[in-house]
Amino acid sequence: MKVREVLSQGRGALITAKIDDASLEAEVLLRYALGLKRVQLYLQLDRELSFKESENFWQLIRLRLNNEPTAYITGHREFYGLDFDVDGNVLIPRPESELLVETALGLALEYPMHTIADVGTGSGALAISLAVTLPRVKIYATDISSSALGVAQSNCQKHGVLNRIRLLQGDLLEPLPEPVNLIVANLPYVREEALSQVNTRYFEPHLALDGGPDGLEAIRRLGTQVGAKLRLGGGLLLEIGLDQGEAVMVFFRHLFPSAEIKLIPDGCGIDRVMSLLLPPAILLTESGVSNAVMLS
Ligand code: GLN
Repeated sequence: MKVREVLSQGRGALITAKIDDASLEAEVLLRYALGLKRVQLYLQLDRELSFKESENFWQLIRLRLNNEPTAYITGHREFYGLDFDVDGNVLIPRPESELLVETALGLALEYPMHTIADVGTGSGALAISLAVTLPRVKIYATDISSSALGVAQSNCQKHGVLNRIRLLQGDLLEPLPEPVNLIVANLPYVREEALSQVNTRYFEPHLALDGGPDGLEAIRRLGTQVGAKLRLGGGLLLEIGLDQGEAVMVFFRHLFPSAEIKLIPDGCGIDRVMSLLLPPAILLTESGVSNAVMLS
């Protein structure tokens, strides 16, 4: 059978299983099975596949039909134009999280930025995208999972930024040795009940997805650590889920009444990032506690 026929049959199998982006996924899996780049695949559409080649491809399609994410099957995912290694120890970077990077870069143009922390870094996608684009900034990347940090470390090596990113193991902001100018975080924010459904998420580390009964447990815990680890005039950018914007804003407004807080929508019009900017001078909250502790 020819490459084009096998590709079309694989696509058909994924469509029947109602897998989104069936065309793209079938192509990625066929390229992976044959070890070909995109252009090479399209130059070989009329070549006959060997029995072994087509067996390899169908084996990958079977994994995908069993809900295993394509990124785990191939071990790669592109994010912000960079190729990241991924495995079952880390969340697969999502295109919508590029909004965190874009927003952070926008802030870096406006405010002096010497240090950034990526909290719960996973594969390192956010920290590395920022390090590659902001060559003078020192970046900390934390994660509670040592196996996730192993993946982040090999991605840092791959993108030549191992000397610019300090990988730290620990809970949220706790391992940071100093307060920073900007905190970016894609913490677990999925409601735990949503995680019982068997879909591609099922294969991802629940540690990176499970935000407790209302999805906001990790975000609230981070909130209580921010005051000690964010410099005056600094910013916090948090990825949030559908319908969480209002609750997250209320929570942070209470913690930081003088901060400028807003929600930023993604390309689909869904509020995806909460942005919080601390005022550049010390102000006291109603409870009398300073909302930022260090001078920048
Ligand atoms: N957006 C991801 C999802 O819906 C969740 C990522 C997260 O919890 N940080 O699967």
